[in-house]
Amino acid sequence: PLKADDPVVESQITVCVRKRPLNDKEQRNREVDVITIPSKDRLILHEPKNKVDLTKYLENQQFRFDYVFDHTTTNDVIYKFTAQPLVKTIFEGGMATCFAYGQTGAGKTHTMGGEFKGKHQNFTNGIYGLVARDVFTYLRDPRYRNMNYVVSASFFEIYGKMVFDLLAKKQRLRVLEDGQQVVQVVGLTERVVGSVNDVLELIQKGSLERMCGQTSANTNSSRSHAVFQILIRHPGLKKLQGKFSLIDLAGNERGADTSKSNRQTRIEGADINKSLLALKECIRALGKKGAHCPFRGSKLTQVLRDSFIGEKSRTCMIALISPGVASWEHTLNTLRYADRVK
Ligand code: ADP
Ligand code: MG
Repeated sequence: PLKADDPVVESQITVCVRKRPLNDKEQRNREVDVITIPSKDRLILHEPKNKVDLTKYLENQQFRFDYVFDHTTTNDVIYKFTAQPLVKTIFEGGMATCFAYGQTGAGKTHTMGGEFKGKHQNFTNGIYGLVARDVFTYLRDPRYRNMNYVVSASFFEIYGKMVFDLLAKKQRLRVLEDGQQVVQVVGLTERVVGSVNDVLELIQKGSLERMCGQTSANTNSSRSHAVFQILIRHPGLKKLQGKFSLIDLAGNERGADTSKSNRQTRIEGADINKSLLALKECIRALGKKGAHCPFRGSKLTQVLRDSFIGEKSRTCMIALISPGVASWEHTLNTLRYADRVK
């Protein structure tokens, strides 16, 4: 029997919002918190009256989502209501997908990869690691114990039109589509894993690779989508039973970089914008008969094509927001996007 607090997600798409605490910089700048959460599924964004006196509100906009999590919520709780109910999907022959969407600095990597303590990241409590933990729990279940499924993992990054393998020193990979519209990332590393610790090692390796070569924390990684996948295959046959894709998306504010004078930044912004728009359409099309999924609209949606088709596919989106008034416009964009996904 379901308890009142249990996640109820029989729908193919779950959308939730997570608000992080005001950070040190925002507190030093005496930014007010423009987000209030009146109930577990509602959120109010307060619009500042003027940019000078940031203590006055002009107007409230209310949004409704499947779940809204306040700044005190931990990753474990977020996980319980978002990705955890989808783990069984991949054992039942379906595709599961979980996206982290939002402005740079809002908490995407903290949610997906694990909580930060300074520069140290605790990979055991990120959504990646928690999914891995539960996949191995399922494997021990009497229903699946004798199936001898083989578990493996991949980790790659999409930067504009390019794909890089995070488990192979950022080797550049090609994406090919065959006549049956099956999309393949050619040569992508797929490591067989025998335990949660094996997976955590790969998560750590790939995450460090992603950060590698960056001067400050959010320069390159905020412009790329990171895709971590756990696959379950039948023994010998190698036939895919299910796949869980976990995606730490590029900062959505980068999609607005299209008017900047720097040509490279402009092109990157346009690519990010295009991929996030295509993604929105593909998620919206999930489970709707005859709806168009423009998966060829971007590399991201192309490589996730098989996750957008089939009645068994399920998706959750976690929209991350910063509470500070200075982030107000980006927060509004994030909330609007999350609102339209469903
Ligand atoms: P993004 O990946 O969206 O750019 P990060 O996940 O790197 O953002 O988060 C930026 C900073 O904010 C990190 O130092 C992170 O630890 C902190 N942070 C994010 N979300 C939370 C949260 N819910 N609670 C506490 N700190 C958070
Ligand atoms: Mg990040």
